[in-house]
Amino acid sequence: MSLTLTGPLYWSCMERMAARIADCGDYITALDAATGDGDHWVNLNMGFTELLEKKEELRDLELPDLFQAIAKILMTSIGGSSGVLYATAYLAAAKRTAGLTEIDLPELGEVLRVMAEAIMRRGKSKPGNKTMVDAIEPAARAMREAAAGGKGETEILSAMKQAAMAGAERTKDMPALRGRAYYQADKGVGHLDPGAVTMSYQLAVLADRLMEEIGDSAGETPESAFDAASPNAWNDKGMTYFDDAFDKARICFSRALALDPFHARYYHNRGRKGLSLDRFQEALADFQTVMRLDPEDDDSRHYCGVAYFFMGMYREAIEEFRDSLRLMIKNGVALIPPTVDWAWMAYMRLGEPERAKELLDEYVTPDMPCEQCDYNYKKRVLLYAGCTTPEEFEREIDRDDDVLGLTATYGLALYYRYLVEDHARCVEYLRQVLAYRTSHHAFAYKLAAMDLAELA
Ligand code: ADP
Ligand code: MG
Repeated sequence: MSLTLTGPLYWSCMERMAARIADCGDYITALDAATGDGDHWVNLNMGFTELLEKKEELRDLELPDLFQAIAKILMTSIGGSSGVLYATAYLAAAKRTAGLTEIDLPELGEVLRVMAEAIMRRGKSKPGNKTMVDAIEPAARAMREAAAGGKGETEILSAMKQAAMAGAERTKDMPALRGRAYYQADKGVGHLDPGAVTMSYQLAVLADRLMEEIGDSAGETPESAFDAASPNAWNDKGMTYFDDAFDKARICFSRALALDPFHARYYHNRGRKGLSLDRFQEALADFQTVMRLDPEDDDSRHYCGVAYFFMGMYREAIEEFRDSLRLMIKNGVALIPPTVDWAWMAYMRLGEPERAKELLDEYVTPDMPCEQCDYNYKKRVLLYAGCTTPEEFEREIDRDDDVLGLTATYGLALYYRYLVEDHARCVEYLRQVLAYRTSHHAFAYKLAAMDLAELA
């Protein structure tokens, strides 16, 4: 079933956008005070308030009529340049969809394109001028490229959202060529453009709402009773679910992100739960967003590698693991063993044992620090490097704790598969891993299941 966007569905997106805009007053006003005249949020919020007041008239309209009505309302209710620009965009959308009662995602990409073009024509602006165009134009492009590349609907939407946010983020370094910031001595360099940020919020909400519609529950409330106003409260709530209710945790992090879409930690946390839920593509997108927000984050770099690994993209995974290792050393982080372990597995899967061996020679020593990580990984890489015998390793397996037990046992399976090439023995240990009764979300369990499917 592919997604069809109708008037009522778009209206429900508008309601979410209105809530999102209503939420960010202080922040956007501060941005516009730094680069413009400080009224952008008041203007836009007035427009959305007016839309909400006309809900009864708007909620059941067909798509083109809804676009037309939104244009008219925004034109008269928003003062400032953004009123005219939004109205022009919605008029273009109405024209593009004339006669249609519903559209699919590729067509929505086209609608966003004509909206961006209408804004550019009306505002005599281009991408790179530090305006709202810098959010909507790349978003429309990413959406069309993802659709043309045959990507799935969730991927199309998440590409659109990522591009909108990254585009808004890039306005920080741009000197303004349009809008009031142009008249500032510094052309607003060092500040985000408020219009680009609010545009990216609306597009992010649109993507989230539509993902929810296609069964991705990213925007749903796990507990209707809980309705935190602050992103941090949502994040804390997510952490309480982190170890045993992955879906709920992920939803909480999405909520935090809806309120604060530039917060690297929330993406990291959601990515972690994406991995737990086997949503590798989305997890990867989250970790990549963290990397854009904080290029020095060794931990998210590591998890980018894990996501690639599960997607079967071992070459890309190795690149991420190697970069993560370099960053860890730079950042003084004692988490080397797990990342070496993953990179070693990736080389082995690619059939490059010499490379795998070089990696061990480079990083593995009996006294390598392993302070913040699962000690099992250190034992495993010492086993691969020949610093421990398999008998010694097996004796030390802690079978009382399922995660520890199965993670260590999987190390033995790998040892027999790749270093002894005794497949029968390997399969025996893989079966032991799969016999653990709990903790089936653990990476070693998932990998053992993959390996067994391959070997048995
Ligand atoms: P005003 O600049 O008239 O006070 P607002 O404060 O409501 O209008 O909106 C400001 C935002 O409008 C800017 O941050 C920018 O993103 C966008 N903007 C302003 N001028 C243009 C333009 N010529 N083309 C595209 N976007 C523009
Ligand atoms: Mg203004």
